[in-house]
Amino acid sequence: MSFQTDTVHAGVAPDPAYGAIMTPIYQSSTFVFEDIGRHKGFDYTRSGNPTRKALEDNLAALEGCSFAAAVTSGMAAIATVMHLFRTGDELICTDDCYGGTARLLKTLQEQFGLIVRFENLRNPGRLEQLITPATRAIWIETPSNPLLNLVDIEATAHTARAHGLLTIVDNTFLSPYLQKPFNLGADIVVHSTTKYLNGHSDVIGGALLSNSRELDERLKNLVNTLGTGAQPFDCWLVLRGIKTLVPRMKEHLANAAKIAEFLDGHRNVKQVFYPGLPSHPQHELARRQQNGFGAMVSFEIDGGIDNVNQILKRTRLFSLAESLGGVESLIEHPATMSHLSMGEDHRRKAGISDTVIRLSIGIEDPDDLIADLDQALGENKKTGDVVQ
Ligand SMILES: *Cc1c(COP(=O)(O)O)cnc(C)c1O
Repeated sequence: MSFQTDTVHAGVAPDPAYGAIMTPIYQSSTFVFEDIGRHKGFDYTRSGNPTRKALEDNLAALEGCSFAAAVTSGMAAIATVMHLFRTGDELICTDDCYGGTARLLKTLQEQFGLIVRFENLRNPGRLEQLITPATRAIWIETPSNPLLNLVDIEATAHTARAHGLLTIVDNTFLSPYLQKPFNLGADIVVHSTTKYLNGHSDVIGGALLSNSRELDERLKNLVNTLGTGAQPFDCWLVLRGIKTLVPRMKEHLANAAKIAEFLDGHRNVKQVFYPGLPSHPQHELARRQQNGFGAMVSFEIDGGIDNVNQILKRTRLFSLAESLGGVESLIEHPATMSHLSMGEDHRRKAGISDTVIRLSIGIEDPDDLIADLDQALGENKKTGDVVQ
């Protein structure tokens, strides 16, 4: 079946009890045994639940892999994966990763002796020199947050495999509709389903996926042992959100392209970060590796933090909030919001300056979104007057 058909149908079937076309919410902690050692496939919701299973089967079909676990948040997915490693193991992670990922990895380094190195992985040839005998895995986020830098998944996974390392990809920013890491050699994919997969800013959820029997077993066991499995109602919401993933993404993409172009030509904007712009240094890689450029657009403005503040206060349609991937447009300031926990030194190393603003482009009318940004940027372009 095509991806679009799978978003609606994979993993779900009319309920055998009453024929309900929508997957029921099995809000039950436990399931009755028919006999010693005999039940209908589920015994306890931490270990498995029919609503969660429907979502997991759907997610595995969309990513094109053998195993999916729906967990309570994107961070739960990442924390669960980290339990594959032990003290002294080394992980090489993209330097401009999600702030929460950086915080978790630093905690594991300080408290449990995992060796974590945050590196610029944009040049795949560099990876070879970074690998040490202790390295066990490469953690990729592409495009990255908030600067939309790309990592070549195929080249990275190729080098990693030659050294017996795992390649783990956080695919949250694009969703499986726009990027398929398993086809490029990834071993594990994680998602914050909070973002595009659910798409309606009304649930926190995550997923971890893999494509080898050995990893499937280990990850499944970890989800059950740690208790990170998602709740039935949350799974139902995400399953419902995924049914409209493709039409939503098409609107997100069209809007983001228009807004990136608008910002790129704006006098008060110093630089636009968007892989869809031909000026983006990795535009060609984005064309090759992704099926679309995504709907996150970041930009750096001229001036200082006061100017940033003014813009953030002035937008009416773009709400000042963290998160991304919902139908409504959001604006945020990475240095004091999403990437605050990363710390100033790490931010500077990753190139995330205090005058970078990040947009999550929703599915509103693009003309309304552009008009809102135009007035917020403080310049009346018709007369050339600066509005104060
Ligand atoms: C939001 C996000 C996470 C964390 O997900 P939660 O659902 O908030 O726990 C991880 N990675 C990326 C890229 C994200 O955007």
